[in-house]
Amino acid sequence: MSPCNETHHAHHNHQHGANCGHTAIKHNDHVDYLHDGHLHHPHSDHVDEHKIEVSAKNPDQCTSDCGGHEPGHVHGPGCGHEAVPHGDHIDYLVNGHLHHPHGDHCDDHGLVELV
Ligand SMILES: [Zn+2]
Ligand SMILES: [Zn+2]
Ligand SMILES: [Zn+2]
Ligand SMILES: [Zn+2]
Ligand SMILES: [Zn+2]
Ligand SMILES: [Zn+2]
Repeated sequence: MSPCNETHHAHHNHQHGANCGHTAIKHNDHVDYLHDGHLHHPHSDHVDEHKIEVSAKNPDQCTSDCGGHEPGHVHGPGCGHEAVPHGDHIDYLVNGHLHHPHGDHCDDHGLVELV
């Protein structure tokens, strides 16, 4: 991962939209795009950073049995799941659920709606 300002620049000029290649998530009354672990919301000529709020639908709580992948799987950069900002932490998207690595298991922080 060598720094490249041109790539960085192009990356920020990317226009999110249908079929842009990023995972689209329904967030409240709009659609956001998962981009390198950030939740991007295109807003006129710039992109806002959003995160999923902690709520009854997406609680920040410990659940011992998340399922969705083999029990030994440890989420992290490059684990094959997309990172999603949730409250003050990062979760990983598994079959539409937010998984939060916690000790030797994952917590299930609820469902997100994929577009
Ligand atoms: Zn995009
Ligand atoms: Zn949003
Ligand atoms: Zn837990
Ligand atoms: Zn993972
Ligand atoms: Zn979470
Ligand atoms: Zn998990």
